[in-house]
Amino acid sequence: MNGNSTLLSDSHAYQMAIESSSDHIVITDVDGKIVYANKAAQNITGYSLDEMISKTPRLWGGLMDDAFYKRLWDTLKNKRQPFNVELKNKRKNGEIYNAILRAAPILDEKQEVVGFIATEEDITERIRVDQAKSEFVSLASHQLRTPLTVIRWYAEMLGASNPLTDEQKGYINQIQEANKRVISLVSALLNVSRIELGTFFVQPVPINLPLIAEQVTKELAPLFEQKAITVTNMFDSATNNFLGDENLLRIIFHNLLTNACKYTPARGKVTVTIEKKDQNVHIRVSDTGVGIPDDAKPYIFTKLFRADNVKEIDETGNGLGLYIVKSVVEAGGGTIVFESAEGKGSTFSVTFPATGMSKKEGTRSLIKGGTV
Ligand code: ADP
Repeated sequence: MNGNSTLLSDSHAYQMAIESSSDHIVITDVDGKIVYANKAAQNITGYSLDEMISKTPRLWGGLMDDAFYKRLWDTLKNKRQPFNVELKNKRKNGEIYNAILRAAPILDEKQEVVGFIATEEDITERIRVDQAKSEFVSLASHQLRTPLTVIRWYAEMLGASNPLTDEQKGYINQIQEANKRVISLVSALLNVSRIELGTFFVQPVPINLPLIAEQVTKELAPLFEQKAITVTNMFDSATNNFLGDENLLRIIFHNLLTNACKYTPARGKVTVTIEKKDQNVHIRVSDTGVGIPDDAKPYIFTKLFRADNVKEIDETGNGLGLYIVKSVVEAGGGTIVFESAEGKGSTFSVTFPATGMSKKEGTRSLIKGGTV
């Protein structure tokens, strides 16, 4: 084994284990100069051991921005903590690859940093497969939209034609309800694939935030009325001029409000608050509904997740809404959190800087739930 062997154990078995790992393993001295690299590191980067020794991992790195490397060295050297992240690197032949980097400082008995160890897992193939899957979902959902719209039109026309028996009206109603559910699922799948392919854009323009919230509340009024749920709006006029993406904000309000309605029993209360405070704009949707069980809380924003306490109350959900909302909020430079107590209610809070949402380039827009 080449390099500074004082950092390494003498045990032959130990060295062989590291050497045989399918993950890239590199050990550097305190200045970040490479003192050891295993076979996988040579295979993944394409550099030989001789080419790596005494160089820094910048040999195949350097593709991320300066702030990234500053954060990496600050975490490892000053904070003496591990740094785990997904990043892009470049092989010797110029090919870009994706990897999960796990780096950590090596501390001696006096807790002094004597070097660093980094492993890299090459996930280029996994990302390619994920991308292919997203492209397939995107294509399939796109193709499904046209026939679904045709079914909707003809079911509406049939429903309006006379004379129909009550039994026939019942069948048409079933067709329309089932069609609505598929349309909403297909729209959500299309949105998820556009999120995962990174193709959707965020285009902030000056908008009236309370007005958008009010319009979405009005659209959903029949759903709230059916359950006699009162909706109270508390809007701060300081947010009448906000730099936001109207379509995405409608998606956010639509999802949070439909959830509040679905998961609140009859005669409950829903409150929508928009407030400017501490250089931020806060959007909050609170309900007096069934709440979220503690064991479900860590998974609420993950794809397809539905907590056990709602599955019987509402069978129409697909568990994609909050995943879409979180992705949209974060792409626009915001954050989303929630507080909830089972049996008491939930509050979802979205925060954007008062300066507005951040712009994101892209070629596609996202579609609002239930539309094709
Ligand atoms: P869906 O509503 O279609 O199931 P979402 O992604 O919008 O999917 O929400 C995921 C899950 O989070 C829901 O199934 C439910 O368990 C929980 N949830 C979301 N909003 C609320 C709410 N206001 N009250 C209680 N539970 C909620």
